[in-house]
Amino acid sequence: MRRAQRRLSRRHKGSKNREKAQRQLATAHYRVANIRRDALHKATATLVQTKAKSAEQVPTVVVIEDLHVTGMVKNRRLARAISDAGFGEFRRQLTYKAAQRGIDIVVADRFYPSSKTFHACGAVNHDLTLDQREWECPTCGAALDRDLNAAQNLAALATNNVPSVRRERNACGDSVSPGMTGQPSVKQESITML
Ligand SMILES: [Zn+2]
Repeated sequence: MRRAQRRLSRRHKGSKNREKAQRQLATAHYRVANIRRDALHKATATLVQTKAKSAEQVPTVVVIEDLHVTGMVKNRRLARAISDAGFGEFRRQLTYKAAQRGIDIVVADRFYPSSKTFHACGAVNHDLTLDQREWECPTCGAALDRDLNAAQNLAALATNNVPSVRRERNACGDSVSPGMTGQPSVKQESITML
């Protein structure tokens, strides 16, 4: 896409070659959009895969984080990576596919510090920066992988809080508090009617 863009900018206005470069750029845009959408479809389909080998592998709940995407995109270093990933489209696909399969989506509040909190001891590392992929718990000294620890925090939201939240019908999308102090608020996006 970048190459096609560069080629177009070097062609003279009104020339046949510019027209051709314009068509090539349009084709490149179309291809990239298709590749991206296809990759997202594969990823979201895998997450709600219900034809797993064993019953334990069939998800009943998928927890996602309500990231402040527009705020993050304002950070120039993150902007391209996040726009490329298509978070909005990812969430849209995941939500409708989960609904089709009777899988609940639990959305963790965007202010929930899933990366900064050590899932085992509960200590919060306020000094954690975005580029730190590994960190050490300031309280107990455990060595942690940033993404794995965040995923373990989110997984805990599904098992600890969902049963109490689940029976509440929350069609208007308000935040549902799990009713435990110190616990993050959890928003239920879709509720399965059995
Ligand atoms: Zn600790």
